[in-house]
Amino acid sequence: MTAKFDVINPATEQVVDSVRLVTAEETDTAIARAAKAFPAWRAVAPGDRARLLRRFAEAVDADLENLARLEVLNAGHTIGNARWEAGNVRDVLHYYAAAPERLFGRQIPVPGGVDLTFAEPLGVVGVIVPWNFPMPIASWGFAPALAAGNTVVLKPAELTPLTALRLAELAHQAGIPQDVFQVLPGKGSVVGQRFVTHPLVRKVVFTGSTEVGKQIMAGCADQVKRVTLELGGKNANIVFADADLEKAAAAAPYGVFDNAGQDCCARSRILVQKSVYDRFMELLEPAVRGVVVGDPGDEKTEMGPLISHGHRAKVRSYLPEGAPIAFQGTAPDGPGYWFPPTVVTPSGVRDPLAADEIFGPIVAVLPFADEAEAVTMANDTDYGLSASIWTRDVGRALRVSRAVEAGNLSVNSHSSVRYWTPFGGFKQSGLGRELGPDALAAFTETKNVFIDTEG
Ligand code: NAD
Repeated sequence: MTAKFDVINPATEQVVDSVRLVTAEETDTAIARAAKAFPAWRAVAPGDRARLLRRFAEAVDADLENLARLEVLNAGHTIGNARWEAGNVRDVLHYYAAAPERLFGRQIPVPGGVDLTFAEPLGVVGVIVPWNFPMPIASWGFAPALAAGNTVVLKPAELTPLTALRLAELAHQAGIPQDVFQVLPGKGSVVGQRFVTHPLVRKVVFTGSTEVGKQIMAGCADQVKRVTLELGGKNANIVFADADLEKAAAAAPYGVFDNAGQDCCARSRILVQKSVYDRFMELLEPAVRGVVVGDPGDEKTEMGPLISHGHRAKVRSYLPEGAPIAFQGTAPDGPGYWFPPTVVTPSGVRDPLAADEIFGPIVAVLPFADEAEAVTMANDTDYGLSASIWTRDVGRALRVSRAVEAGNLSVNSHSSVRYWTPFGGFKQSGLGRELGPDALAAFTETKNVFIDTEG
């Protein structure tokens, strides 16, 4: 009997689709097909591979509203976010469509001959995607992988397979061969695990929890398999006394509650300089209460539901009776995995409210005395994905940006992701970088060739 997975709309709790789960045997067949398709795909002329990727990007653009509505239905993302996410896939494809003709090697001066380097594709790349940003995260793996001449097998999260399946249809309609890009909905322990153990998969791109990421890395070690990891975060939003406090407080809820806090870059620890702490909290309260939570399909909605019943129970468990709740926003009653934006004031950075990646709309606010203490507190975590710094002092902005151990810093803003700049984590937030001009390096091996010209 073939297993199926019921896809649930998290805003209504209604089953919207049922997706057949791929088995281990089918995964092996798909990997074998991807390996067989590799020589022909890498041999496609650079300009032709580029054109196919541009066509894929155009197909995504033409289907943008449908993809966005599918994500609203499957993941409860607000329609505004979902449109941005589908647009991000288009843009990532266009950006890496420029890569095939620019995959340069180098000519290095040597005596007695000529020395050349080549950027060779790896073979089959396995991409494992989490449920929180199903479309963009998939494309950050498959677009540069395909551009560099690899074939791709991609596993979406069990909870959110619908947009990945649609993206595969669009790729094939655009002319990318079936076996060059395959989407395999299934369990992490079955399909994802096979990407790790199957010798024909030469690289795993994993985005997900730090816990599973460690298992993937350990599993890949067995074959010295290449791996990129994008893992969790518990990111600091550092507000100095000299900042534009009104702006910092108005922006803070959107730095953490976007996607209901289910964002590896969520600024879920607000560190505020003691001298302005009370004033900041006064300004933060109306900003939090003003976040519009509700039907994600409504254009005015700013925050939708959590992804699942189980995930909401986990988020809730962080707020037992007597938890230090400062204030909360609102959330709808009735069906749907709703949770209100919540501000807590834990006693210190090691309190689970301030230390754990809750992955929901809960933000911890903590005071600090001076710049040195702010940096110490920001770095007192095993994670290191992103951080924000609010100050009017440009010297401090740069000093603190350099001192915080995180991959993505933003000053007087919370933005972390641009497809043309590098993205990734320090410490246990990951390994390697995605996006930006250097991502192709993670999907190629450097080969050095010496040609004797003396003989
Ligand atoms: P998860 O680790 O549970 O699952 C992620 C993916 O891995 C899913 O597709 C899952 O099926 C698969 N998987 C699970 N067990 C596996 C195994 N043993 N072998 C192979 N694959 C397996 O994470 P999640 O709950 O889906 O996503 C949330 C997490 O993702 C959060 O911790 C978040 O911080 C992280 N995340 C990180 C980034 C980043 O770029 N750093 C971006 C988004 C999400």
